[in-house]
Amino acid sequence: MRIDHDIHTHTLFSSCCYDPLATMKAFVERAHELGHRILGISNHLWDERVPGASAWYRGQTVDYGFEGKYAIPADTLGVKVLFGTETEYCGKDDNLGMLASTAARFDYVLVPHTHTHMKNFVIRESSDVAGYRDRLAAGIIEKFPELSPEMADRMASTLKYAEVRALIGAGATVDEEKYLADFCFSSFESLMKNGEFRKMAASVPTLIAHPFYPCGITRDEKARVFAFIMEQKDRLYADFAECASLGVGLDVNIGTYGRPENGFADDPMVAVMRVAVEAGCRFAFGTDTHSVAGLDAIRKGDAISAAIGITGGMLADPVS
Ligand SMILES: [Zn+2]
Ligand SMILES: [Zn+2]
Repeated sequence: MRIDHDIHTHTLFSSCCYDPLATMKAFVERAHELGHRILGISNHLWDERVPGASAWYRGQTVDYGFEGKYAIPADTLGVKVLFGTETEYCGKDDNLGMLASTAARFDYVLVPHTHTHMKNFVIRESSDVAGYRDRLAAGIIEKFPELSPEMADRMASTLKYAEVRALIGAGATVDEEKYLADFCFSSFESLMKNGEFRKMAASVPTLIAHPFYPCGITRDEKARVFAFIMEQKDRLYADFAECASLGVGLDVNIGTYGRPENGFADDPMVAVMRVAVEAGCRFAFGTDTHSVAGLDAIRKGDAISAAIGITGGMLADPVS
């Protein structure tokens, strides 16, 4: 299928966008050149009415995000422009970053459940890493008793997650990839049960952003996470069936398909999404681009849709 839409894009209104040319106007022009029927803007937003925003989200409020809506040019060159958002779901404490009533102000909402790079916000650090930081803080206090426990904790928390894991090395007791796979399941399942999410799904087109895709790890680590996920194929099927019954779509996120050889046939993300097809899910494609040039990646979607087996009749609201 030739993909004629892109529902997952980030312009300058998202803090993670570093392309100074990534304006609404530039996106619309490029979407027109690519022959898109629909372009959806989905900047990261955390509803200021929901407590618990991380420091990174605190500036990305709904009021701020709506400035982006006003930047959509009057003439969209025949492209249907949808004003959506990518909010957040913190599986760690079952906290959805947007109220259903706020979501209704958008054309659609993407809800990610696997921003696993956001440690101690979306996902708790593994017990190995948390335990190492505790020991580190205790050691700092022992050497420098003049420091307060808060100072020692702050110092111990500055090391990156991967750095701490490297220091733990062979002493690890947690299988990190198994831990991430378990989290992908548990966060998806708690999201499907979340009352606010169910209200949202009933009132505005809602899609899961990059479902079951663990963010912030290497390609080899991802392959292990996906292997653990596919070991529980029946559970995956049941989760997708639940999603389909709520009328929630899935974002086919181009950036999460890293193995183009053999027409993406061997891509682990494709294997996951084939289960979603079996379970009756519906889909919309997105590049998750943070730059104008990144919009071009949608062409990979043609081969990805074929590999997964997605046909025109399986498209989700708001691109169906
Ligand atoms: Zn995302
Ligand atoms: Zn995104």
